Amino acid sequence: MRCVTDETFNELDKDHKEEIDYMNYKDTLLMPKTAFPMRGNLPNKEPVRREGWEEANLYEKSLERTKGRPLFLLHDGPPYANGSLHIGHALNQILKDFITRYKSMAGYHVPYVPGWDTHGLPIETSLTKKKKINRKNIPVAEFRQMCADYALKQLDQQRSEFKSLGARGDWDNPYITLTKDYEAAQIKVFGEMAKKGYIYKGLKPVFWSPSSESALAEAEIEYKDKRSPSIYVTYEVEQDNDLLEKGTKFIIWTTTPWTIPASMGVSLHPDLEYDVVQVGDEKYVVAHDLVEALEEELKWEDVKVVQSFMGRKADNIVAKHPFYDRDIVVMLGTHVTTEAGTGCVHTAPGHGEDDFYVAKDYGIEGFCPVDEKGYFTEEAPGFTGLFYDEANKVVTEKLDESGTLLYLKFITHSYPHDWRTKKPTIFRATSQWFASIKDFRKDILAEIKEVEWHPHWGETRLYNMVRDREDWCISRQRTWGVPIPVFYGEDGTPIITDETIKHVSELFREHGSNIWFEREAKELLPEGFTSEHSPNNTFTKEVDIMDVWFDSGSSHEAVLMNREDHHRPADMYLEGSDQYRGWFNSSLSTAVAVTGKAPYKSVLTHGFVLDGEGRKMSKSLGNVMVPSNVQKQLGTDILRLWVSSVDYQADVRISQEILKQISESYRKIRNTFRFMLGNLNDFDPEKHTVSEANLEEVDQYMLVRLQQIIENVRKNYDAYDFADVSQEIHNFIAGDLSAFYLDFAKDILYIEHEDHPRRRSIQTVYYETLVSLVKLLAPIIPHTAEEVWEQIPETDNEYVQLTDMPAFHEVASFDQEKLTKWDHFMKVRSDVLKALEEARNEKVIGKPLEAKLTIVPKDTETKEVLESIPHLHQMLIVSEAEIAKEADNTKAYNYVDIAVAKHEGEKCDRCWTFSHTIGENTAHPTLCARCSEVVENYYSHLV
Ligand SMILES: [Zn+2]
Repeated sequence: MRCVTDETFNELDKDHKEEIDYMNYKDTLLMPKTAFPMRGNLPNKEPVRREGWEEANLYEKSLERTKGRPLFLLHDGPPYANGSLHIGHALNQILKDFITRYKSMAGYHVPYVPGWDTHGLPIETSLTKKKKINRKNIPVAEFRQMCADYALKQLDQQRSEFKSLGARGDWDNPYITLTKDYEAAQIKVFGEMAKKGYIYKGLKPVFWSPSSESALAEAEIEYKDKRSPSIYVTYEVEQDNDLLEKGTKFIIWTTTPWTIPASMGVSLHPDLEYDVVQVGDEKYVVAHDLVEALEEELKWEDVKVVQSFMGRKADNIVAKHPFYDRDIVVMLGTHVTTEAGTGCVHTAPGHGEDDFYVAKDYGIEGFCPVDEKGYFTEEAPGFTGLFYDEANKVVTEKLDESGTLLYLKFITHSYPHDWRTKKPTIFRATSQWFASIKDFRKDILAEIKEVEWHPHWGETRLYNMVRDREDWCISRQRTWGVPIPVFYGEDGTPIITDETIKHVSELFREHGSNIWFEREAKELLPEGFTSEHSPNNTFTKEVDIMDVWFDSGSSHEAVLMNREDHHRPADMYLEGSDQYRGWFNSSLSTAVAVTGKAPYKSVLTHGFVLDGEGRKMSKSLGNVMVPSNVQKQLGTDILRLWVSSVDYQADVRISQEILKQISESYRKIRNTFRFMLGNLNDFDPEKHTVSEANLEEVDQYMLVRLQQIIENVRKNYDAYDFADVSQEIHNFIAGDLSAFYLDFAKDILYIEHEDHPRRRSIQTVYYETLVSLVKLLAPIIPHTAEEVWEQIPETDNEYVQLTDMPAFHEVASFDQEKLTKWDHFMKVRSDVLKALEEARNEKVIGKPLEAKLTIVPKDTETKEVLESIPHLHQMLIVSEAEIAKEADNTKAYNYVDIAVAKHEGEKCDRCWTFSHTIGENTAHPTLCARCSEVVENYYSHLV
């Protein structure tokens, strides 16, 4: 199958030049001519083009142009201002840009304000670790200023990288979580939630990262394998009681021996059956269902069940701590399972959430003898000063000494780690500020159902997450963040009132939140403020800061409500699927808490970027692909075309090999555009456009095909299905367009007289096709689209991105009957291509133009279709095509039998067609009749 590739275009070009030079017919051919280069040279040309866009203020122009249209607001999720962009950032930003660019060309007014998340631990760490700043030697406010400077510098760097992706938006006026206005709005959100009673302070075991010295949110936890000791320990019953005799031992199992010093109870499930088993002289209590497994694990012999009872019967029995002089209470808890262990659960309310709640029912508080760095305090005699992880060994030895250690081995299991430091976390009961999710969980769940989710399973995912989530721990014991705006009275009572919140919010709006650290509590309160909790009129202030998810989660207030039109909810939030637990979740929580409504109408998510083999990218694997490298090597439009090609809702892959395929598909698009531009070089749409009704039928047919593409592509854009957008366009370009229409049309465009109606008819279709395709591709490859646009004669705007998408229309006087006919012809054409291919392989012919076809239709429909098509041989790109009732040497195909023979005429030196008319015109003895006429016309035209 021939198609318009570099090779054929150039080969044809070159061969013709040589021959015509000699024959002097060179100037009589209308060869394609265009300034649009074959090679994109994207890495060098794209940056220059983007500078031009910036100078021309195209973002502002796009807004001016669409003023008064319905608003479509894609609210940017703020990336964290630290480090260079990775390929995931690029995927995210480019997807956003596809949507905003498309919507802006599809009838909407589309502002896009990028944002940055600028507080938090990684920036503190960058300063202390990388820049060797000693935090202890400088005042808090000064350190915070350094953090701010650092964050803004990072932001600048990232901004230029985002812009280099071709992303269009208000890059000069982004929203930044550290700005005064933003912080003031965030305080407002906190205040509203406090006012509704959703904010409380409580002692609670929370995920605690000793390496970060801070509490962590669930979103900041990642699970990784860890090797831990697995021990079985006995708790001995102190006194004879109604159920058990003194000396009977409960067996517990734990993988965190270091929590034993904080052990306050043993939990049993009330509705589970327990056995007392006799092993040698010892009597042990374990869950009935686990006896067998334990027999094997603990290598018991001669196990006798001497007693059985339901868990609830053991309520409040007192046992002994394995080595401390401490009563251990048997508690009932439904969190106990028989999935592993013994069915008797060691309960340390200071180190576990379930433990905490169970113990609370027994009046036992969270006891936590571990400090913020993970070291034991004096409350754990024998272990004081030990790091918790090192204490495992000492605790185990102590258990062994006291004769309570039954068994020890090591296991590897999935364990929560700090997502930033990658170090293990612990549960630690501390005093923290919480947002009470349970108070408005029902409302959040109801709102989730109102949102449009792409993909649809996002709904279930977030629903389950919110349904199961605990209260949100919003305090952090760090410095670089927005202070929790709470004062304390002399009796320690927290003070949050409308008046204090308003005052602090105004102070932040005027001075920024650093003022919290620069001034005394009294100076941060409204003048003359008094409280019943402070008879002497002295106050202190909270020193914890807010979880950064509260920062970004307040953007609906700080950004959307900051717009003149208060456009909340936004039309769309679009981020990676990790944001179900992150930004989608925190934004939804604060918005529902404050307004009762979700902050977004729709949410679109994408997966992660993996390498070519589906592995996660990592420095150690050496498979990290950086967007800036792809841009420097191949160009931004190649990266963007890659984004358009992937099924982004799942995890996606990228590799050199994949990019090579993308580059090839780009070349195909580029060369097709170049070919069409070249053939439109003498076409003036004002003067030469042929009305649809007067187009040749095949040209009308191509126009109909184009309309189908426009309709499908726009549907796919509307469904955010970019892979189908690019597939649809690619298939059209590589298929019907270049393999059929552009190919056979050369014989008219190059050969016929400039103003020949058939030529103008084809050019009319070329023009409309080119304009439409460039528009359809403009959101995806904007650099190339503008480059082509510049070369198209007489377009309605200087920039294609400032035009509207082509709209589907019916092609005049082309009815269903004609469509059926041409669709049928295209099928017959496939038969012909097969026949020609076979004839070439059998060396019957060389080039298809050498062929004479005899086609025998198998049915009446095919016969009628073929007979009704003018210039049939031209459309099949052979020198002659005859329709016959029967013929010799035919081969059978789907719709026709075909005989391919070498044409017996001579080859015309101008058009290369074989003909019996060569030499008829003695003035041009090497030309066919058609060419002789054109050439004569040409020379007379010159005279
Ligand atoms: Zn000719």
